Amino acid sequence: MFTEGGYTVTKDEFKADAILVNTCSVRDQAEQKALGKMGSMVQHRKKRPHVVYGFMGCMAQSRGQELFQNVPHLDVVVGTQKYHKVFEYVDGILQNRLERRMDDLKLTYKGDHICDIDEEKDSQNTIKDHVKETTDPTAFVSIMQGCNMKCSYCIVPDTRGRERGRPIQDIVEECESLVARGVKEVTLLGQIVNLYGRTEFPKVDGKSPFVQLLEAVHAIEGLERIRFTSPHPIGYRDDLVEAFTYLPKLCSHIHFPMQSGSDRILKLMRRPYKNEKFIEICKKMKAARPDMAITTDIIVGFPGETEEDFEETVKCVKELEFDNCFVFRYSQRRNTPAADMLDQLSEKVKEDRNQRLLAVVNEIAQRKNNALVGTVQEVLCTGPSKNNPNTLNSRTPQNKIVILEGNPDRLVGKVFKAKIHECTGFTLYGTPIIESLEEAE
Ligand code: SAM
Ligand code: SF4
Repeated sequence: MFTEGGYTVTKDEFKADAILVNTCSVRDQAEQKALGKMGSMVQHRKKRPHVVYGFMGCMAQSRGQELFQNVPHLDVVVGTQKYHKVFEYVDGILQNRLERRMDDLKLTYKGDHICDIDEEKDSQNTIKDHVKETTDPTAFVSIMQGCNMKCSYCIVPDTRGRERGRPIQDIVEECESLVARGVKEVTLLGQIVNLYGRTEFPKVDGKSPFVQLLEAVHAIEGLERIRFTSPHPIGYRDDLVEAFTYLPKLCSHIHFPMQSGSDRILKLMRRPYKNEKFIEICKKMKAARPDMAITTDIIVGFPGETEEDFEETVKCVKELEFDNCFVFRYSQRRNTPAADMLDQLSEKVKEDRNQRLLAVVNEIAQRKNNALVGTVQEVLCTGPSKNNPNTLNSRTPQNKIVILEGNPDRLVGKVFKAKIHECTGFTLYGTPIIESLEEAE
């Protein structure tokens, strides 16, 4: 929206006329980081008084007006259903200030505050207005907003509102326009993607709206890979498992949050499934796609989690052999039932469990990666590596990173085979197999 409105993007915050911090509220650490960053930028105001500062996203939604007290120089707070209004607000204030500055150089620019955190009907259909110009061969596509679950630790239902999906045709059109601009891989996003459209669209031939969407996106010519995140055991039915047997563009990877291996803790978390059900779905997925990689999210130190509960999680991680796992220390969130539970654990216990679980997770992940040395993997080359721009990043269908050497003009945006010759922990190193590239061309 800003580039369309004549702005350019700068990486230098000292040059920007508008600075927007997009925020996450899932854990307190993320909120503190955003507040700290905005606080440190207060210096800019003195030298460049016209600059417009804004918070967007979940923290903006949950804290609203309160943020103007925390950060006195703040101008704009825009919630999760109003992203499409950000340009109008920021540009309005900026133009106003620039005009006034010409008349009166002593203006303080106070009184321009805008806080818009209202709900907006059909806001899910405005997300596509944010499509950026891209040369990146991968893209994220939001297919829905909100979440109707009430996991006792989670702030998302509060910040994102009720679950609502975009029409299949709109999503397909967005994917088509991305493909026309060179995108080869899309990741469909939603809090519980597999529940997409369940309240808006009917089942057809026993297939859920999500599977219908996967089929429609799969039919797009030129699109080579499809991913989605995150699925949930609720509503993870056989039609979705089966989709992996007849939709080859679906990558062999699911990020499937488990949260805990203890049924007692799952119940306290208000996660409506038992560990046995979670394991059963993982097994079905591996039967449908033997090369399936599964990664997960786990929260350690949930209120009341005993050493036995934690050990059950460790046992489950060992049994399922996740390819990777994000381990989170439980963080108390405002307006969530778990925040008021009596048996809150100390940071020391959380950190100890975090480290112990990570050691198990990392050992399994590295063992699995080491086993890939000497094999040939199909990769999508995504661009220069951040750490060393002389090398290129690529990903296998299992979402493992493979570092390559080669000509970016020839490799970026292509799917080809690479021979893996080295592994250092989480990173694989490979050599492109030129014949497979020629075939792709
Ligand atoms: N909707 C997804 C699901 O239910 O599987 C998860 C989305 S959530 C935004 C991302 C992850 O953050 C969760 O899977 C959970 O592990 C973690 N998370 C959420 N609330 C948390 C909290 N209060 N403390 C620590 N981790 C949290
Ligand atoms: Fe949060 Fe996911 Fe639970 Fe929804 S399903 S409340 S997003 S953890």
